[in-house]
Amino acid sequence: MKVLVINAGSSSLKYQLFDMDKEEVLAKGNCDRIGIDGVFSYKAASKGIALEYDFAFPNHTVAANKVLETLADPEVGVISDISEIGAAGHRIVHGGSFFMEATLVDSDEVIEKIEACKTLAPLHAMPNAAGIRACREAMPNIPHVAVFDTAFHSTMPDVAKTYALPRDLCEKYSIKRYGAHGTSHKYVSQKTAEFLGKKPEDLKMVTLHLGNGSSITAIDKGRCVDTSMGLTPLAGPLMGTRCGSIDPAIVPLLLDNELVQDKETGEMRKMSGSELNALMNKKSGVYAVSGGYSDFRDLESNADKGDEKSALALDMFAYQCKQIMAGYIAILGGVDCIVFTAGIGENGPRTRSKICKGLLEPLGIELDEVANDCKGVARDVTGKNSKVKVLVIPTNEELMIAKETLAVAAL
Ligand code: ADP
Repeated sequence: MKVLVINAGSSSLKYQLFDMDKEEVLAKGNCDRIGIDGVFSYKAASKGIALEYDFAFPNHTVAANKVLETLADPEVGVISDISEIGAAGHRIVHGGSFFMEATLVDSDEVIEKIEACKTLAPLHAMPNAAGIRACREAMPNIPHVAVFDTAFHSTMPDVAKTYALPRDLCEKYSIKRYGAHGTSHKYVSQKTAEFLGKKPEDLKMVTLHLGNGSSITAIDKGRCVDTSMGLTPLAGPLMGTRCGSIDPAIVPLLLDNELVQDKETGEMRKMSGSELNALMNKKSGVYAVSGGYSDFRDLESNADKGDEKSALALDMFAYQCKQIMAGYIAILGGVDCIVFTAGIGENGPRTRSKICKGLLEPLGIELDEVANDCKGVARDVTGKNSKVKVLVIPTNEELMIAKETLAVAAL
């Protein structure tokens, strides 16, 4: 079966068409700058085609139709008719308390519940829902499946997901740990089991998804038992531009004391909650510590030239990842494997090495520095004295969405 995977954001609609018989990407691309002007990109590797051109996208519906037209285009397309597409899978950032697993979108009610998660995912919920609506309109006769980034974490026990705030407030505002990157952690945990020739049920693992956004997950017998992102993706280690977990008292301190200039009146006034939230999400993390660099390649080259701020940012990142990882090993009561994935996890040998350094004595973890000198490939980088496997496993969230879509569509 051919499965179309859609990742709709506020001004973009990314797509990948999979042939699931071979688990192969037939074509992929992006409808970018939706509602602004519009840029369309399309790649069909098997045909050696890569296109990018301006195309007006007033809304997500026009974008969805453009994708389908191109996929079935007699010249550049990879299918002869859109009826060849058997199902569509939609990446949905937040399932709130409504969705614990990938779900068939068989009614408007499902979409309304996704929209109801907008307080938890203000940037994503409405565009995600708009993507589903547009694609259902364009392909009314196939199953559409919503695949949630939060779903894999829904197995966390209360002890891991409850916040110590008044119960009535937690209930009123649905405050609890939801986590994120769940599709990636699930994919990587399954691939790890395959890589080791074992069943997920026989493994305890810690997966480290380290990219611009980073999260670490403790997985026991294939089920998530804890994860470092929280109500929102702001919690956990410091990240590219996110501050990670900080003393919550810093929030009222800044709200009560820090003055900003009002854009409309020009007067100085106290910072608002949403301005502080933006600061903690977009102007913090290694970007803030290093004085303006969020890409780890820049941080490493700066540090090599003697820049102490970039060196501190790299040290802090490894320190906090190590701290969380070690905590999860204690929670799991031991660990069989440590798994690195995503931009930094797959391509950053220095960061992997720093995180594992000094852990042979206390935790039985050693990394082989020679094997570790690799990028973007699945690889065993376990040191010869290590009792724990250390692996690099590239993630593939789109393929996982396609697999989950197929599983739900086949029911
Ligand atoms: P996102 O969270 O945006 O999906 P990615 O998982 O693609 O992020 O990770 C992006 C990050 O990966 C970049 O910001 C960069 O820091 C890091 N990265 C990519 N390649 C390398 C590399 N060769 N060495 C170190 N870090 C790298």
